[in-house]
Amino acid sequence: MDVIRVSRTGDAGVLTPQRLDPPEPGPGEVLVRLAAVGVNYIEVYHRTGLYPMPLPFTPGSEGAGTVVAVGAGVTTPAVGDRVAGADFAGAYAGYALAPADRVVPVPDGVDDEVAAAALLQGLTAHYLVFDAYPPRPGDIVLVHAAAGGVGLLLTQLATALGGRVVATASTEDKRRLAADAGAEWTVGYDEFPDRVRELTGGAGVPAVYDSVGQATFDASLASLRRRGTLVLYGQSSGPVPPFDLSRLAAGGSLYVTRPTLGSFVATRDELVTRTDDLFRRIADGSLRITIGGRYPLTEAARAHTDLESRRTTGKLLLIP
Ligand code: NDP
Repeated sequence: MDVIRVSRTGDAGVLTPQRLDPPEPGPGEVLVRLAAVGVNYIEVYHRTGLYPMPLPFTPGSEGAGTVVAVGAGVTTPAVGDRVAGADFAGAYAGYALAPADRVVPVPDGVDDEVAAAALLQGLTAHYLVFDAYPPRPGDIVLVHAAAGGVGLLLTQLATALGGRVVATASTEDKRRLAADAGAEWTVGYDEFPDRVRELTGGAGVPAVYDSVGQATFDASLASLRRRGTLVLYGQSSGPVPPFDLSRLAAGGSLYVTRPTLGSFVATRDELVTRTDDLFRRIADGSLRITIGGRYPLTEAARAHTDLESRRTTGKLLLIP
């Protein structure tokens, strides 16, 4: 099979295509022939070493395809079943292993590419708006990088709950996409603090969903109303430096949370319940998945370069 290996950290050029035999499933594992592989920003952090990985490694955790072998003790899923998962051990590959209880069945109304495109970013957007901070009807909330993979889904789900979204994105084309996803106001990064103040009569918003991190953190905090919540869930511009907690008091009893998907789909029940709701929304057309780019697996480096240079919108897929 084709596989992408990383043997030293660095720029996108360290993503090296190789040919290897598919692995054998161990006890409790399934082997899936991947039809589509999801690209996620965390793989940039793994590749650069911001989140250290033991070297060498195969990046990627997300994909969808067909079960081709099961390990000892696995009763479900079965060989031939269509599944998706966000916990594959090295998904940048033609075939990948996952624990059997961490893959989910893909319903007929959802094809493999959409399943691979939807799962990780969709589950993230889902927990952000249903659990991290659920907007109340009429709440004006601020969503950063709203034309990105998570951003487009987050904007749609926040709007579905009755939230009114102020969206940031870096270009006019991206802002148009955010508006198509339901954002009521779209702005560039320089304008959002003023725009939020203007829209809220100076009070600020009850929640900011911030995946940009270092570049936006201070202005995001300043955009919150009294007792507002900053949901810092990413760091595309770099990690937020150490933070003086007394700033939360000065801002009016503010909250900052730094959630990760793993804590919201930790059990099989949480994973299945959330995924069922996500796939139901996709199948009935109420949640639109935007695939912004498809790349041959062997061109993973080009996908990373595009993602990091802010040229992309929606979800990027690798096709083995
Ligand atoms: P995106 O598709 O959102 O791509 C990143 C976007 O961030 C860019 O398109 C760009 O949009 C914006 N951006 C702003 N500043 C920069 C910068 N300096 N460099 C690069 N991009 C920048 O990626 P994903 O949807 O895959 O992920 C979004 C974020 O969410 C990532 O930080 C990721 O790690 C995080 N995440 C967190 C999860 C969690 O549970 N905590 C789970 C999944 C993702 P623009 O040009 O409009 O500014």
